[in-house]
Amino acid sequence: MKLRLKLLLAVVLLFGLSTGIATALEGPELVLRGAKVYPSPTASPVENAVVLLENGQIAGVGRQGELKIPKQAKVIDCTGKVIVAGFWNSHVHFENGWHGATQAPAEQLEAHMQEMLTRWGFTTVWDLGSLPSNTLALRKRIESGEVPGPQILMAGDIFPLNGHPVYLPPEMQLPEAASPEQAEQMSKGYLKMGLDGIKLFTGAFMGNKPVVNMDTAIVKAAADVAHADGKPVFAHPQNHTGTDNALAGGVDVLAHTIPNERSFTDDELSRMKRQHTALIPTLTLWTTVVNDPAITDKLVDAGVSELKTYFSEGGTILFGTDVGFVTKYDTSQEYDFMGRAMAWRDILASLTTNPSTLFKQPTKGRVEKGMNADLVVLNADPANDPRNFSKVAYTIRAGKILYPAPK
Ligand SMILES: [Zn+2]
Repeated sequence: MKLRLKLLLAVVLLFGLSTGIATALEGPELVLRGAKVYPSPTASPVENAVVLLENGQIAGVGRQGELKIPKQAKVIDCTGKVIVAGFWNSHVHFENGWHGATQAPAEQLEAHMQEMLTRWGFTTVWDLGSLPSNTLALRKRIESGEVPGPQILMAGDIFPLNGHPVYLPPEMQLPEAASPEQAEQMSKGYLKMGLDGIKLFTGAFMGNKPVVNMDTAIVKAAADVAHADGKPVFAHPQNHTGTDNALAGGVDVLAHTIPNERSFTDDELSRMKRQHTALIPTLTLWTTVVNDPAITDKLVDAGVSELKTYFSEGGTILFGTDVGFVTKYDTSQEYDFMGRAMAWRDILASLTTNPSTLFKQPTKGRVEKGMNADLVVLNADPANDPRNFSKVAYTIRAGKILYPAPK
């Protein structure tokens, strides 16, 4: 009797243990069933698909019936929905409402993260300038698993001398580089801090006063430091001179269009093309800078036209909204504006494959076996209307659902 009980206990323990291990290490954690999958911006869709997610990666993509759905997996019915790779927002800030990230309760940060980013499908974001210590604290809490959120990459800002933009609070301490040597030191300091890139205000907006531009020698000094370390350099161009100095100094990404100038010059376009400079249009931003609706329309039209020109000449476009500086979180207007210049598949590339390639994260950007399990499940097909990129049902990063919050 005693022996039997012992045996029984041993069997229960063994069985319990082995199934526990199997679920943790072997079984697919999540299965998305029934959606239409766009594996990449260029691939044909897979209808009525099954996507298996396991250990933070995509373990398989196929039609229903082609892939076996393991019994222990959690299955989400995605019938009628569309699956694309997780989105990049290559221009955000953890600025407005984000201070105190070290002490803020995790639930508060998660809620804000959902409201601003994850409910719009973003699984990777570039912070192009905030308080570095605050963003680094936030990133640490995300990567430890405490706060569900996107991967955060961050660039450190450098301003030209006496180039404190009018829209930033005057008491804010901004690093202004007066010489190439200072710019070099600042760049080195940012990279030492653990930042992933540099952002240069090659044109600083001064309101009624003329734009303050950064000299090309200063741009180049800062950019060379970043490039020596394999890191990208962004520029806030503001005007033609800011664009030209950015290009002459070897900047990789223009963080905005320049709608005040109405269009890029032919020289700028050919240089951007030759140097493979990427462009972030931030078209919605131009609806927030002036109160006059007629001027707003003109700015948006000019931004759309600059995007269209560069895109049609083969330029690389990255999706980005400047959210966190602006408080308009809804992305549908940006897709609407971009849709005036590009087809929906090209917008998908700006959200997925273009940034993954440019920022050297080859395991992101496509819904294929072996890629990171970073996915967006959409309620409607962006092929019918690019605004459908904003109709997010689920945002998944590394196989974990970031949005909506699990119940
Ligand atoms: Zn910005």
